[in-house]
Amino acid sequence: MTALTIALSKGRIFDETLPLLAALGMDPAGDIDRLLRVPSRNKDVSLLIVRASDVPTYVEYGAADLGVVGKDVLMEHGGSALYEPLDLGIAQCRLSVAAKKDGPRPDGVRRLRVATKYPEITRRHFAAKGEQVEIIKLYGSMELAPLVGLADLIVDLVATGSTLKANGLVEIETICQVTSRLVVNKAAMKMKNAAIQTLIAQIAERVQAGKTRPGKGK
Ligand code: ADP
Ligand code: MG
Repeated sequence: MTALTIALSKGRIFDETLPLLAALGMDPAGDIDRLLRVPSRNKDVSLLIVRASDVPTYVEYGAADLGVVGKDVLMEHGGSALYEPLDLGIAQCRLSVAAKKDGPRPDGVRRLRVATKYPEITRRHFAAKGEQVEIIKLYGSMELAPLVGLADLIVDLVATGSTLKANGLVEIETICQVTSRLVVNKAAMKMKNAAIQTLIAQIAERVQAGKTRPGKGK
């Protein structure tokens, strides 16, 4: 059999990918709290546990053949070096612009400051609208920035909106919907084509079954 390595990130994506891996007999067969490379129940498949924003890099360089990664991270990374054959429909949220309830809004005149961990997406978004903004890169807790005067706006992931609300912020614009995607290394897609196509087909079938099950999916 062909050996396959899949890069995943801990947290929401891992939790929501686990049932999928289990259904395919590829769930972790090792200590996922300590190991960063975990064997799976399928001896040909191993799992790498990496930071969410590092998944595209591991797959692009072929350290992993496949990966599961949020569309947000893919858009920020620039996804052209990877194949993106499947939308897994998991870890659903959206990427939005938020502001203080009574704070300034983009008006085409003032140059507002935007705090985000997605500087590329933010730059493209405001450039497309012809809005001049100053981008402040943060690595977490974006919601704090407007409260302490570090920024006027934030660009961040929103799922329920409760974190925004708790911090006195309102969503003023949705940039895009976000779900997790399966990504594949381009060379591996050629060299391990049969094994990867089989896996993609199995995952696609599971994702489809999840969507049509009553009360599940969209
Ligand atoms: P990190 O803290 O390493 O940046 P997270 O675990 O917060 O990573 O996020 C990893 C990925 O999970 C994101 O890139 C996004 O695709 C997804 N995600 C993050 N937050 C949410 C959320 N509130 N709801 C759904 N998906 C989310
Ligand atoms: Mg986080």
